[in-house]
Amino acid sequence: MLIPYGKQDITDDDIRAVVGVLKSDYITQGPAVPSFENEFRKYVNADYAVAVNSATSALHIACIALDLGPGDVLWTSPMTFVASSNCALYCGAKVDFVDIDEASRNISVEKLEEKLIESAKRGELPKVVVVVHLAGMPCELQKIKALSLQYGFKIIEDASHAVGARYHGSQIGSCGFSDCTVFSFHPVKIITSGEGGMVTTNSKDLFESLARLKTHGITASPEQMIERPKDEIWNFQQVELGLNYRMTDIQAALGESQLLRVDQIIRKRNQISDFYDDAFKDLPLTLPSRQEGLYSSFHLYQIEIMERAEDQKVIYNFLRNRGILVNIHYIPVYLHPYYESLGFKRNYCPVAEVFFRRSLSLPIYPTLTEEELEFVCSSIAEVCNK
Ligand SMILES: *Cc1c(COP(=O)(O)O)cnc(C)c1O
Repeated sequence: MLIPYGKQDITDDDIRAVVGVLKSDYITQGPAVPSFENEFRKYVNADYAVAVNSATSALHIACIALDLGPGDVLWTSPMTFVASSNCALYCGAKVDFVDIDEASRNISVEKLEEKLIESAKRGELPKVVVVVHLAGMPCELQKIKALSLQYGFKIIEDASHAVGARYHGSQIGSCGFSDCTVFSFHPVKIITSGEGGMVTTNSKDLFESLARLKTHGITASPEQMIERPKDEIWNFQQVELGLNYRMTDIQAALGESQLLRVDQIIRKRNQISDFYDDAFKDLPLTLPSRQEGLYSSFHLYQIEIMERAEDQKVIYNFLRNRGILVNIHYIPVYLHPYYESLGFKRNYCPVAEVFFRRSLSLPIYPTLTEEELEFVCSSIAEVCNK
């Protein structure tokens, strides 16, 4: 029996939706993509949504649309997948990191403010800050928004883990405290389209720019064209340098079908996390934080092993040998060899490094059975009490 940390759930309805597209006239650039965009936009309560082929692509075009380029700096949390910071490098901008908060494991607002004060003195303020809702737990958006108004940076929410999460009653993706929000539909995430991503925003300008950038920088709308004489018969024009980051209709059909079950999926993830909380309450572990007003989508359930540093490896190997495929999220981005080659040094964000050395991500996904859940819990109790 192998129990991974995350896994997709594909139903017969999902399969029917995909087959429907395969049998239709369009497998890409047809009606399924706008339909998914519209349903997703309504679900997160945003004005606009642009579907793309991955969250990495979504982050890239969000950075281009926010005019990030050479000479600019993007800040993010080191406790994330590399895509949250690579997007700056694609644009020729620099990247820097703000350490995490010990309890929430998200970007620390106090450290963000301290770093802003210091950077303002040197005239090196960031143009964009990417905030990552780690494991599906919302960041302190209101405070970060207040800092953005004071220091003049843009905010991208990396909600790759956070489809369906809520911040004091507002849906993550509704962009009340950010310029845009990015989602991932990779199979280990909350809902999947195979590969896929989405950007939501309330800005019409940003939306138009994102929609062009994902398809070569080409527009077919006359008001976005540059000098289109009345007697011309051509009907599209490239007005900036874009990419081909389009989602296919096959993927969109799967994504939209999955979206119908999203609240059910997140309820199940929250039930599993409640079960874990209860099972581990007397063990020497730090469990995910809970905070009034924040509803996590629990993409990950991360425990921290508190007794000895070497225990992480012991527990990891013990569980893996039993087929419980726990994982580590994440190696702080700047510790990757590529980032070290850019000049980042060990101990740059000490809280993130401690978390990296203590944490393990346990299995959490909608089809995890009660039997599997009990097996994970008893195995962890056993190894902790050794
Ligand atoms: C998965 C993930 C991404 C990238 O998503 P893709 O859709 O695979 O490109 C970006 N940021 C975070 C935090 C992620 O977990």
